[in-house]
Amino acid sequence: MEDFNPKTLQETIQFFTEFENCRLFMTALRWPDGKVRCPRCSSYKVRYLDNARVYWCAEGHKTPKFSLKVGTVFEDSPIALEKWLPAVWMLVNNKNGISSWELHRALGVTQKSAWFMLHRIRAAIKTGGFKFGGPEGGEVEVDETFVGGKTINMHKKRRAEMQRKHMEMRGSDSEQVHRYVNKTAVQGMLDRELRQVRAKVVPNVRRDTLQNEVLNHVRFGSRLYTDNAVSYELLNSDYVHEVVSHADEYVRGRVHTNGLENFWSLLKRTLRGTYVAVEPFHLDRYLDEQTFRFNNRATKDNPLNDSDRFVYALSQIVGKRLTYKELTGKEEEAPF
Ligand SMILES: [Zn+2]
Repeated sequence: MEDFNPKTLQETIQFFTEFENCRLFMTALRWPDGKVRCPRCSSYKVRYLDNARVYWCAEGHKTPKFSLKVGTVFEDSPIALEKWLPAVWMLVNNKNGISSWELHRALGVTQKSAWFMLHRIRAAIKTGGFKFGGPEGGEVEVDETFVGGKTINMHKKRRAEMQRKHMEMRGSDSEQVHRYVNKTAVQGMLDRELRQVRAKVVPNVRRDTLQNEVLNHVRFGSRLYTDNAVSYELLNSDYVHEVVSHADEYVRGRVHTNGLENFWSLLKRTLRGTYVAVEPFHLDRYLDEQTFRFNNRATKDNPLNDSDRFVYALSQIVGKRLTYKELTGKEEEAPF
């Protein structure tokens, strides 16, 4: 990947216009030793068929041909790598993301294809897999926010249904409930030392729901900072729990959730500016996207540039799949 160092989107598009550059880039990424292996049987006995732009495995099994997309989140897509690679660049490097309509115009794919492409990339760059904090009091901020929610244009029946559901969600019929009608609850955690965030949609903001997430994602012995005493009070035996009260003080030494507040405001800017009508069903993927950009932002200690972020994102696409069925919950094949 030594030759690959575009600084801008324009240079990226230019670079990947040459299929040979796509091929060299993808092979270097997937096989750092430079030896292409069959993704089906791991054999090195493969030949590149220049005209067809595929490899051919000599081991004699079924479907001996494979493209560079096989075994990645791009598999089975009719969209060429020349378009996929700039799409990844745009999604991970545009501060506010990119909508399927923008990608459709930028790359000349249909809006539906662009929509599916972006969701596949989001699935690939999803982070997680290890717990935050540490037994020696590693500091973790935990906070919730509500996303979405314009009821004005909504059909009456649907609005009533949403109201009913959200009352159920809050478990009461208070004034507060009506503020959150048609909004989706999101819980976030931030590991201060790693400077990493995780965020996901939660079905409600009841105590057991929020506490279970903490138990699943934060190591015992960590120091938890929340602004909500009641929702987390039962965790005191497993964690050191400190609460900031927004009523009388914003920051008490290290006890605050300002890191997450910052993340929430970036998230909401993206959702307002770029993704105007996100269905709650898909919100988790937008959270994964925002989380990726946040966790891979340039900092003083870690001066990542756009090119680094792009290469890192691409390194995440190998071995991941997202089918149309998984994405939409529908049985049929992708119509595009
Ligand atoms: Zn093979």
